[in-house]
Amino acid sequence: MKTAVMALSGGMDSTSLLLRLIREGNSVYTIGFNYGQKHIVELERAEQNIAYLEKNGYKVIHKVVDLSSLMSMFSGSLTSKEEVPTGHYEEEQMKSTVVPNRNAIFSSIIYGYALSLSNELSTNVSISLGVHSGDHAIYPDCRPEFYKILNHAFEIGNWDAENVSLELPYIDGDKESILQDAIVSCDVLKLDFDTIFANTNTSYDPDELGRSSGKTGSDIERILAFHAIGRKDPVEYQDDWSTVLSHALALESEHMDKVYREKLTELQYQVTRNSATERAFTGIYDKHFETGNYHCICCGKLLFRSTGKYNSGCGWPAFHTEDDNADIKRVSDYSHGMARIEVKCSKCDAHLGHVFEDGPLEYGGERYCINSAALEFREG
Ligand SMILES: [Zn+2]
Repeated sequence: MKTAVMALSGGMDSTSLLLRLIREGNSVYTIGFNYGQKHIVELERAEQNIAYLEKNGYKVIHKVVDLSSLMSMFSGSLTSKEEVPTGHYEEEQMKSTVVPNRNAIFSSIIYGYALSLSNELSTNVSISLGVHSGDHAIYPDCRPEFYKILNHAFEIGNWDAENVSLELPYIDGDKESILQDAIVSCDVLKLDFDTIFANTNTSYDPDELGRSSGKTGSDIERILAFHAIGRKDPVEYQDDWSTVLSHALALESEHMDKVYREKLTELQYQVTRNSATERAFTGIYDKHFETGNYHCICCGKLLFRSTGKYNSGCGWPAFHTEDDNADIKRVSDYSHGMARIEVKCSKCDAHLGHVFEDGPLEYGGERYCINSAALEFREG
């Protein structure tokens, strides 16, 4: 049996990771850290899940390390009197939720434990961490390059380091893909997804009953991830699910609007976010027939390939076929006294243009009339 060591914070990433390691046939050793965090309820929730797993035949060796006296010297809103900020998780004010050097401290302890287990059990041990790219914006110590160099330092600073490896299975993922992974694990291991995720905590500022307000950055990110996988979050909030969800969606939309305003030109913004139409024969892709792909200007989703484009003479880029995986949304549009079918990006809801029935018959007879301003061409 393979042996794995991981930090189990009691949040959704590390809980999903634990399920994954069990699913992959590892004998798992977990460490929880008490660092004086306001959301210490997460450690209780982790223990509830350990007990639930054991009841279902999955034994996990779990230890809690007390770093509270050490880290009481540290600054940051998670461990000090400073208030935990509310708002979107990618906003600047969330930086106060960074605990100085936290992941380097935790990683050092995990590495020492993994080496000790490797010696004691005479086996190779892998260290798994649940960090993912969505964490990078605010938390520099979640970056892969940080872990790569840290691991290198551990390797050159220890005997027998070749028996310990570092794995970051979620590094290219996000909260949504991590939850999808947990669904697969629950399926394989015959465990109840809702029971497990009711036994987690993601909020940085839960009330005395351990319930989340749904308003801190980490709450928002979690709520949106459950919404994205089409499930209600089983954890208890101070308000009902529809209230916390609509708050999170409103914040997300406000945040994305800021992102689009910064990233897009005025024309691109007006076309994609306000359904404007560029003037005929002015768009950069109207007479553009290079080989390559056309992506959504807002979110980068692949929408069309040059093989699906043709010269319709209508004044806007015309396509007879969308990419197989584009999944472009169609919505009835009765604006400007006409009945038309509007087409939108299924990932970010950007307005792209309209689809008409006067396209080339040999390709099905449709004409996607798309604004150049909604597209980004990439060669290839
Ligand atoms: Zn998009």
